[in-house]
Amino acid sequence: MTERCDPDSMLPTNGFDCHRIIDVATMFLEESLQEVTHDRIAETARQVTSAGIVLLNLYDSGGRDYQTRAMAGAGAVAPRIREILGFDPVGARWQYDMARFERIAARTVTPFESLHDYTGVRVPPERILRLEQELGFGPVWLAAIRKDGKMLGDFVLISSGDLPLQNAPLLELYTRLVGLFLVRRNAERELQKSHERFLLAVNGNRDGIWDWDITTGDLFLSARWKEMLGYRDDELPNVIDTFRDHLHPEDRPRVMKYVDSYLKGEFRHYQIEFRMRRKDGEHLWVLARGEALYDAQGKPCRMAGSHTDITEKKEFDRRLEELAATDALTGLWNRRHFFEVGKNELARCRRYKSPVSLLMMDLDHFKRINDGHGHAAGDEVLRAMAGILKGNLRDVDVPARIGGEEFAVLLPSTGVEGAVVAAERVRRAVEGARVSHEGRELVFTVSVGIAGCCTQARDLDELLRAADAALYHAKQDGRNRCRSESNLV
Ligand code: GH3
Ligand code: MG
Ligand code: MG
Repeated sequence: MTERCDPDSMLPTNGFDCHRIIDVATMFLEESLQEVTHDRIAETARQVTSAGIVLLNLYDSGGRDYQTRAMAGAGAVAPRIREILGFDPVGARWQYDMARFERIAARTVTPFESLHDYTGVRVPPERILRLEQELGFGPVWLAAIRKDGKMLGDFVLISSGDLPLQNAPLLELYTRLVGLFLVRRNAERELQKSHERFLLAVNGNRDGIWDWDITTGDLFLSARWKEMLGYRDDELPNVIDTFRDHLHPEDRPRVMKYVDSYLKGEFRHYQIEFRMRRKDGEHLWVLARGEALYDAQGKPCRMAGSHTDITEKKEFDRRLEELAATDALTGLWNRRHFFEVGKNELARCRRYKSPVSLLMMDLDHFKRINDGHGHAAGDEVLRAMAGILKGNLRDVDVPARIGGEEFAVLLPSTGVEGAVVAAERVRRAVEGARVSHEGRELVFTVSVGIAGCCTQARDLDELLRAADAALYHAKQDGRNRCRSESNLV
């Protein structure tokens, strides 16, 4: 067989213009890999070698499934080949002894005794014989396609008549190009697939997705990320400053410090909540999660993650906290919240040496209102009392309903003298108030006890006791009056 091909000759012997191999190389290097078809690969092998028919067989990526992907040169005899074989060779999956095949294909171009060697058990010998006899198949050659020692597939080159195989060295070069091409194309397909997977995950996600190239400062921001902030995809540039600039100014230093600490490896999980500014000027709450990649020197080079809009959850939590802290009947703070705030406020005043005062109030003869007009009337009066407190105090003051008809007010930055003024203002407002209930107008009064701590440190309990004592005196002195601890006459 070997005399039919001259492997030592580098010169094409069939008139194939060797410059065409440059075209072939260009095809693989410059054209979009996905556009180079199997038919074209097989046809080029046929032209290089002047073979009558060329089959291109490829393994799947797992190396198990071995399938004919193209048949070049069969032309008019293709139907006859199908008829004799009993099936279409293109698309056929073959099975045979791998060890034997590896031996045969150890060299790039190998002469075959017969097609029979190749098709193995799949095609009955008599059909192969008919193929060879009826269609005048000449000698068969096998050209293995490999890359980095791995078999990717092969060409089966079937001579027509006795025409020898041409240009074996060129064929060798060609199979190497094809090997290179197949590996690159598979990598490109994998990349494409993983990119599509990424897009599907990103676009289908209700979270905003970000991917930060730390070295360049590029920051991929998904369309959903921008939509969360009220922008179209093309309205914001994909750079780190877009993120930084949209952070709430109050949260920015904290967040940037957190990112820094995370990248330095100070903690494992990146998870932080902060506010971002929307296009309409509103803010939304975001939960950020992410992970960083480090280069060989241990320097952070990339970081990616998600931003979840948690504004509703935050609002819900805030409402829950508020509900737990307010008195349902009057909407004022409740006893529990008052004690919490009171303790903090006292500590703060002690730190800054600023005065603080406390009013204790108890409605006068409240039982009479309940008894005389009903419990609902009493409730109405309690609500009116809350309204008067809110209307006659500063925003920083903390009014609370701490018992049935008992109210307390904390007055930050206020000495006892100022507290007396505020208490008197409330007392008079109560005295002048008219609460209409079922067509009747109810009047009521309040007694107030006042205590403060300007110079001496006191805890809340002490302050409450002192205010309570003053309140007792206000009641003793005839009700509807204010008494401060320093004026317990
Ligand atoms: P004094 O001037 O001495 O304070 O007289 P008073 O009648 O207000 O005395 P007391 O503190 O004994 O009575 C308070 C009453 O407030 C008793 C209770 O029935 C009533 N009360 C407590 N909580 C509520 C409430 O939520 N709604 C109504 N309508 N009444 C309440
Ligand atoms: Mg009472
Ligand atoms: Mg009372």
